[in-house]
Amino acid sequence: MEKLVSLAKRRGFIFQSSEIYGGTGSVWDYGPLGVELKKNVKDRWWNAMVRFRDDIEGLDAAILMHPRVWEASGHVSGFVDPLVDCKTCKGRFRADKLEDARCPQKPSKRPGEHDACQLTVPRQFNLMFKTFMGPLEESASVVYLRPETAQGIYVNFLNVQQSTRQKIPFGIAQIGKAFRNEITPGNFIFRTREFEQMEMQFFVEPGTDMGWFEFWKAERMKWHVELGLDPARLEYHQHTAGELAHYARAAFDVNFDFGGTLGFQEIEGVHNRGDFDLGRHQEYSTKKLEYFDQPNNKRFLPYVVETSVGADRVTLALLVNAYREEAVAGEEEGRVVLGLHPALAPIKAGIFPLVKKDGMPEMAHRIADDLRRRFPVFYDESGAIGRRYRRQDEVGTPFCVTVDGQSTQDGTVTIRDRDTLEQSRVPADALARVIQEKLDA
Ligand code: ATP
Repeated sequence: MEKLVSLAKRRGFIFQSSEIYGGTGSVWDYGPLGVELKKNVKDRWWNAMVRFRDDIEGLDAAILMHPRVWEASGHVSGFVDPLVDCKTCKGRFRADKLEDARCPQKPSKRPGEHDACQLTVPRQFNLMFKTFMGPLEESASVVYLRPETAQGIYVNFLNVQQSTRQKIPFGIAQIGKAFRNEITPGNFIFRTREFEQMEMQFFVEPGTDMGWFEFWKAERMKWHVELGLDPARLEYHQHTAGELAHYARAAFDVNFDFGGTLGFQEIEGVHNRGDFDLGRHQEYSTKKLEYFDQPNNKRFLPYVVETSVGADRVTLALLVNAYREEAVAGEEEGRVVLGLHPALAPIKAGIFPLVKKDGMPEMAHRIADDLRRRFPVFYDESGAIGRRYRRQDEVGTPFCVTVDGQSTQDGTVTIRDRDTLEQSRVPADALARVIQEKLDA
């Protein structure tokens, strides 16, 4: 993780928020390469869930919602973690995760196990960020920064259904920011206080819910594998009776093995939530949220199968999964490679003139300008060609194109593959097609 954090900063993937002021606790900013990587993750999710299906509609609901939403959803009373303080070291821990924590004064022990520890009794701590809507704090109403995006979908269920004339079963999907005042954030972008979720609620007829639950459980695992995450590092975790939320009929997490002390951790949850959410919003808003099944002339409150995945957590999983250090035959210096799936890589091709003369930079610039209209490319003429390759390997660029002496004579260039290191010669004017074919493969 330390190596990744350092690479992420050095190469412009991820920076600590407000770093020049000493940083903000567990909030991160995505730099030029990070924003492209995370966008590619979000685009793949949007394509798989919305664009490539005719039974899921997209939505972009606001972050600030009516405060009653969070009473109905159970977040005001129940979105709490048990918090304990240590009076000796002033450490703060989640009472239900003490076995994963270390005593700051004696890291070989857990909080409470060291003689000097003085833990308080657990207090319930609400994870929602509160703020005020209106000009004056005292007269304005309290609003919350949403701790999940799903509620925006529930309250718009009928708006979307009626405006699109979708029939059940169908889903609503959205990507957006969520905020949680986590007690123990950390592990880089794994657990942060501001993050992005990609959530989909699939509305089904009661009785068909377990079939759809199994469908989405399998689909979502397939999506993670198609991103290039190593199947050996992925597993399902079924929620035990103790872990299951009181309203949930079934829940599975997709876990990824982050290695080190983190090990297998949740990156996505797939939940069968029954009619809990629509039922509660119907009760609190006093507006009917039933679906009218016209052919069968019946009304019912749909059940919901939810898939909820963190864009930042998947981005971290991809970085961990992709990072490798390896020796290169015939070279003393090894290389660091981000073996990202080409479709996810922030830069698709590095474009290099072999030397800065004889018309090579001009031709390389022309190629870069042409390719840039289709996908992100990076022009680089500084340093030895080997160094330029290494710089691109380190950020996961799948292809490097070199313009050499022959190029200016016959219009061909070499294209090098990040993983196999093989180079082949192709006509410069066929590059866009050749690279696109490789990206689509
Ligand atoms: P955890 O137990 O890890 O806190 P959770 O069970 O509370 O997660 P959900 O409420 O199911 O998480 O949220 C769905 C997804 O949102 C998670 O699988 C994760 O990818 C992402 N997520 C949740 N909390 C955070 C966070 N604080 N930082 C980054 N991503 C998060």
